[in-house]
Amino acid sequence: MKPNTHRFGQAVIIGGSIAGLMSARVLADHFDKVLVLEREPFPEGPEARKSTPQGRHIHAVLEAGLKTMEGLFPGLRRELEAGGVEYIDMARDAAWLQSGSWKARYEGDIETILVSRPFLEWKLRGHVAALPNVELRTGYCVEELVLDASRTRAVGVKVKGPEGEQEIPGALIVDASGRGSRAPQWLEALGFGQVEQEQVRIDLGYTSRLYERPPGFDAWKILVLNGKAPESQRSGFISNVEGGRWIVSLNGYFGDHAPTDDAGFLEFARGLPTPAIYEYIRDARPLTDPVLHKIPSSRWLHYERLARRPEGFVLLGDAVCALNPVFGQGMTVSALGAKFLGECVARAKASPEGLPLEVARPFQKKLAGLIGLCWTLTTTMDLAHPRAEGKRPFGLKFLQWSFQNMIDLTSQHAASCRTFYEALHLRKGIMGLLQPGFLGALMVYNLKSFFVPRHKRANLDRMPARPGPSPRPGLGRVDVAA
Ligand SMILES: Cc1cc2nc3c(=O)[nH]c(=O)nc-3n(C[C@H](O)[C@H](O)[C@H](O)COP(=O)(O)OP(=O)(O)OC[C@H]3O[C@@H](n4cnc5c(N)ncnc54)[C@H](O)[C@@H]3O)c2cc1C
Repeated sequence: MKPNTHRFGQAVIIGGSIAGLMSARVLADHFDKVLVLEREPFPEGPEARKSTPQGRHIHAVLEAGLKTMEGLFPGLRRELEAGGVEYIDMARDAAWLQSGSWKARYEGDIETILVSRPFLEWKLRGHVAALPNVELRTGYCVEELVLDASRTRAVGVKVKGPEGEQEIPGALIVDASGRGSRAPQWLEALGFGQVEQEQVRIDLGYTSRLYERPPGFDAWKILVLNGKAPESQRSGFISNVEGGRWIVSLNGYFGDHAPTDDAGFLEFARGLPTPAIYEYIRDARPLTDPVLHKIPSSRWLHYERLARRPEGFVLLGDAVCALNPVFGQGMTVSALGAKFLGECVARAKASPEGLPLEVARPFQKKLAGLIGLCWTLTTTMDLAHPRAEGKRPFGLKFLQWSFQNMIDLTSQHAASCRTFYEALHLRKGIMGLLQPGFLGALMVYNLKSFFVPRHKRANLDRMPARPGPSPRPGLGRVDVAA
């Protein structure tokens, strides 16, 4: 069969951050021109931007997101490594106290990177800017969606820019404008009704600062401390990032936010479930002042459920779902969302009508499937805090109990830990957890939890050491001190 090389006219993307850049890359394969409209100027280098204040905080990349980025931007890996970004084996290089028990450490195969958000965004932006049919236009704030005469199809956007107000046409409009997206208001004003919204209020605050990394330090490359809900509502992270630095992020729920002064920041670190972070940073040299970012809620806008929608208008990234970042899913969901968008548009090329009607519906539905998995994971944990406000679905208590057991099991059983990492890093999706070996181990552990006290069946108090090379990289029981 002859390949379909038909190209559509102009695609317009609102927002030039992670979701916008990834979308620009995939749409460049299918459109004559892709125009990215960004309200803020881009910095020359790897600097945090005012419009994306989250960039000053730790940003983990899940394996599926990393692989998607590398697939779309050949040469990215080489550039990241040349810039001092480390590729790590999650199982070996992370020391992670999750929900009060330490993950087993072993030679594994889940690969990810430790990078600052501004550095990653800068590299992605460089690749996108180099695409011949993509234009990154800054200083343009999109204010409205423009419909055709039949009011069924989006055909452009109204923007405010240096030349004043104008309309810019687009055969496909992509909203990648982040959590502050105005799409719900636009759609309602245009007569498409209210977008259903799901929300879990957590009043989370991240306070972060950069430190100089002590030379030669290699006990871990990323250290994560999450206490068990509801007793503990604080978490902390230290991660290597490029430039020989550590990024240290401390967070707390329900207004328990780490202060931004030196003494308060350290004191908060001391109050984490273990004082490990405090002990590592108290003598380290800070490079920046602490900054605080507040996240009122995890929020999911269900565009896939709209009864009527304008064709030619799709949304992705935080504009659709802004998750509690504790599992580091947002950029990966954005990258995978962009990949799905490319697939939907490619399929639509086969349509004889030109740019197909019906890109929006299948795309939003597919995206919702992915978000659902991430949403369940994070909100199950969030809702373990009685103060978290949100819908508590039937069976939640059982899910939380089983989830906690699964986490505790991963502290003692490397094979189960591997299955858990595969699901978390979106290698296999939730179905990955349904493997007979894993389910069997979890069922036995669930039973055990009735008879054996937690401290005797989970590693609650000993940070596992980095495993040395072993002749048979082992996925079995690991040694845990009682
Ligand atoms: C504290 C914190 C920590 C996080 N940690 C992680 C992590 O560890 N791992 C991870 O994967 N994710 C993490 N995230 C989530 C991650 O930051 C987002 O999921 C990711 O940035 C995707 O966002 P986006 O591109 O959809 O939107 P954003 O990054 O918010 O960007 C939106 C862009 O749209 C532009 N814009 C907005 N309105 C308009 C308009 N009207 N016209 C033109 N331009 C507009 C903005 O200027 C901005 O550039 C974290 C988030 C927070 C808050």
